Amino acid sequence: MSSYSDLTSLFKSLSLPSDTPSKQSSSFTLCKDNDSVRTAIDTLSSYSTIVLDCEGSSLGNQGGRLSLVCLRTIPTVSSGPNSTARTFVFDAVSLSKEELQPLLDDVIGSDAIQKVVFDGRMDYSAFFFEYDTRIRNILDLQLADLQSRTLRGESKMSQTNRLTGYLLRSEVNAGRHVRYGHVQMIGGISRCLKDHNLLVQDKAHLDHLRWLERPLPTHYLSYAAHDVYIISVIYEHFLKRGYLNNSDTLAAQSTRYASIWENDQPREEDIYRRNPLLPLEILSVPTGTGATDRICDGCNRKLTRSSFQGINGTKCWVCMTVDVSENSKEERARFRGGNRRRN
Ligand SMILES: [Zn+2]
Repeated sequence: MSSYSDLTSLFKSLSLPSDTPSKQSSSFTLCKDNDSVRTAIDTLSSYSTIVLDCEGSSLGNQGGRLSLVCLRTIPTVSSGPNSTARTFVFDAVSLSKEELQPLLDDVIGSDAIQKVVFDGRMDYSAFFFEYDTRIRNILDLQLADLQSRTLRGESKMSQTNRLTGYLLRSEVNAGRHVRYGHVQMIGGISRCLKDHNLLVQDKAHLDHLRWLERPLPTHYLSYAAHDVYIISVIYEHFLKRGYLNNSDTLAAQSTRYASIWENDQPREEDIYRRNPLLPLEILSVPTGTGATDRICDGCNRKLTRSSFQGINGTKCWVCMTVDVSENSKEERARFRGGNRRRN
């Protein structure tokens, strides 16, 4: 991880604009006993907004297990002039459920503290299915990122073109007005940093199978702490640019998005729940329906009729797109196999 002075000199040499994040904090407090949990909660409870990100083994999926809960404070003017952000890493493996309960009650499940996440679906699923707790008052920057594309002047055509790669270019061109009119690619953190020209050290690569090991190697803890730092940089940038102005709408969208799998915990290999497409009816929910709702055969979500192709459609627009992508993957694999046999 780069130090403050490293980044400062790098920004200077690149003549970057003044709103480029210019400092980072790699320090964190590890909480793995009752006292440290209580002290951390006292600090966290004095903030109205904090960043949340979790790590785990197959996090949020059936059979998955939460490892770390990372929370970072976001100082405001009212926090005082000398207030600096602090990061707390809760060890959910070393702490028993009883020891973690105050964190769940007073922070994760609290309406009084807003939790800023970047794609909070699996974090939510982990808390919901492992700890019987809902993350309340959630703001998902992945949705704000997606909606900022229009605010930044990206045309509908360019947004649909983001599907290229997941689908063949010819397929995107052929279906952009009908089949993919409702379908949007969501982006991960790395793509978000790139799209918004945020120069911050991206996530390192790790073997994600080791999250349940104890003692956990130090670089795993640093990795987890760095994630909430990155999310805080994105949050501050979005706040400055006005991408979070529509806060009530964004909060409702974020809750719908995070809680999406409450009815049925995902399996890791479920292609209809684990894909890079925005699920339907998250940004807005069609009204005046009910009798026409149906369950999608792919994602198993109850959706309104507008999310299906015609009256007999059995899969939603997004799940149909997943099928097209899977089929083209198989075709490409067959093509490669045929070439190898000929060579
Ligand atoms: Zn579906």
